[in-house]
Amino acid sequence: MKLFDSHVHYEDAQFNQDRIERLNHLKETDVKMVLNCCSDVEVFDTVLNIVDQFDFAYGSIGIHPHWTLETPDDYLDRIRECVKHPKIVAIGEMGLDYFWNEPKELQKRIFREQLSLAKELNMPVIIHDRDAHEDTIEILEEFKPKGVLHRYSGPVEILERAFDLGMYVSFNNDLSYPEWNEAPIACLMATPWDRLLIETDCPYAAPYKRKEERCEAEDVRNVVKMIAELRGVSEEFVAQKSYENALRVYEIK
Ligand SMILES: [Zn+2]
Repeated sequence: MKLFDSHVHYEDAQFNQDRIERLNHLKETDVKMVLNCCSDVEVFDTVLNIVDQFDFAYGSIGIHPHWTLETPDDYLDRIRECVKHPKIVAIGEMGLDYFWNEPKELQKRIFREQLSLAKELNMPVIIHDRDAHEDTIEILEEFKPKGVLHRYSGPVEILERAFDLGMYVSFNNDLSYPEWNEAPIACLMATPWDRLLIETDCPYAAPYKRKEERCEAEDVRNVVKMIAELRGVSEEFVAQKSYENALRVYEIK
């Protein structure tokens, strides 16, 4: 089986001790491709190093809403420089997060600035939306980007507005958490096969059975299993569709 984990964070400090080893280990698994996402300027170089060192790794560069207070004034120039790399195929992750306390107006400004840059460069975006569904979709409708709503768990009506814009959605092991899988499952059931991606968001969000442990990209296997069960199709079908969709949205040849 060939799996594309469309959202990993091997740049995260939780992998500082064994990053190269764990990425090398993926060569022995079904994970044949990863998109390493990015959260703040401090890790831009780490993401670039990962995509340089591993054939199967592509990357994105951008500012996560949780890091907006630390973001330097010249961040857009820095993103602009990094995305010249041929294996940086998206801008993100960006968006709104009202779970934490970063000022909303600051989050919105940095979100809009990155969307505007993506538009200018004609690049897909990776969207983070936590507890900010209505504001996020309104801003997306302003800019009409191409890209992916990652780990989305809001109302289906809002997801459908994103589909109307041509966007994709990625599902992770949240599907396995009885405490909060109702919304992601409802979204999964409403997602057309040509818009669906799979991800882990590792090191975060391990499968429920090992929820205290660090997650790794191979845990995307469990996401495939859950989607196949919930939608009544084979795991191979889910793997293949999500792989094709990831290549298409990130424009990887
Ligand atoms: Zn992420």
